[in-house]
Amino acid sequence: MSTRDCALCRRVAETGDQWIADFAMTRAYLHEDQFFPGYCLLILKRHATELFHLDPDERAAMIEEVSRLARALDTVFRPVKVNYELLGNQIPHIHWHVIPRLADDPLPRWPVWRVDHEPLHLPTEGCRERVAAIRAAL
Ligand SMILES: [Zn+2]
Repeated sequence: MSTRDCALCRRVAETGDQWIADFAMTRAYLHEDQFFPGYCLLILKRHATELFHLDPDERAAMIEEVSRLARALDTVFRPVKVNYELLGNQIPHIHWHVIPRLADDPLPRWPVWRVDHEPLHLPTEGCRERVAAIRAAL
């Protein structure tokens, strides 16, 4: 797949309302569905599909960035647990779903994919506030 054909290569080339921060390896965004408050995406800036395609320094740096984002989410949302999902079945470009799972989670023992729900899209101001809160905690 060329980067031109990759939806996440196109996405990571832009910021937009959901952009939170840039790190050396990745760019962080608030997920458009906020049914799980604080759900974020952390997208690798370059196209790669597997962890073993990264050199060890890149991989280590990326894990530090995942951890930094998760710590900020822990500060802002006080979750019971943070979930880390790295799948790539639908879009094969390394991206992490980093998801705070709060005390009122409807299905706390299962991955979010098991929770059937209508996506919750925040109004623009609500999105800005959530992005700002996470950014301030980084
Ligand atoms: Zn890509």
